[in-house]
Amino acid sequence: MARISGRSTGRACGGEARIAGIDLTHRYGSTVALDAVAVSIRDGESVAIMGPSGSGKSTLLHVLAGIVRPDAGTVMLRTARGTVDIATMKDRERSALRLTEFGFVFQQGMLIPELTAAENVALPLLLNGARRTEAAHTAENLLDELGLHGISGRRIGQLSGGQAQRVAIARARATQARVIFADEPTGALDSRTASDVLGALLAATAERGCSLVVVTHDEDVAARCDRVLRLRDGRIDGDEAAR
Ligand code: ADP
Repeated sequence: MARISGRSTGRACGGEARIAGIDLTHRYGSTVALDAVAVSIRDGESVAIMGPSGSGKSTLLHVLAGIVRPDAGTVMLRTARGTVDIATMKDRERSALRLTEFGFVFQQGMLIPELTAAENVALPLLLNGARRTEAAHTAENLLDELGLHGISGRRIGQLSGGQAQRVAIARARATQARVIFADEPTGALDSRTASDVLGALLAATAERGCSLVVVTHDEDVAARCDRVLRLRDGRIDGDEAAR
């Protein structure tokens, strides 16, 4: 298990928050992608991030997930070893944290196309020190649970979009993620498959009480989350219960 040695505040972030962004500001050149955004997400809560194209949704997701370091502000994450500020962590520590605390369900880039479905799911377990046979066994079980029995030996490029998204969900479960980040997880799928994939994502979060942060344009996806956060021009334009 990777050690987290980032700055610890010794206090929980924002009450019961699992992850909280405080005063997040980020620019790309003269473009202000995030302008003093504050967001706090509890355990077990599913939050849809919506807003027009260019409003800062992806930037917010990437900043919360420790992929992009904000120009200003902090991202507090409650871990078993105390609360840490992701925004000020060293890159190596942020990578280790992503591996142990976060799961990613992205359309591209997060699954390794040269590896099979089972190898993709087993990889974070191996990186965390699991034995090869144990990791392979766990990966097979997780794929089975997501209805992917029989395709575990296929490479990612040989899978349909919906199957690949389910492999990503299985991998997020393999990591015991506390927060799952999803970027347009249903964007490229037909409505039936999209509904199944979202159902699998929500079930994965509900059963373990982990949080879900999902960027989406799809009002149906948002309606099935607990909360909808709307962005406009890099600012929060609405934050309401979805159901
Ligand atoms: P959304 O996900 O809502 O479409 P983004 O977070 O991708 O919005 O982008 C917010 C703003 O930042 C947009 O104006 C976008 O053009 C700009 N932006 C995003 N990423 C980059 C980048 N890598 N370089 C320059 N500008 C960027």
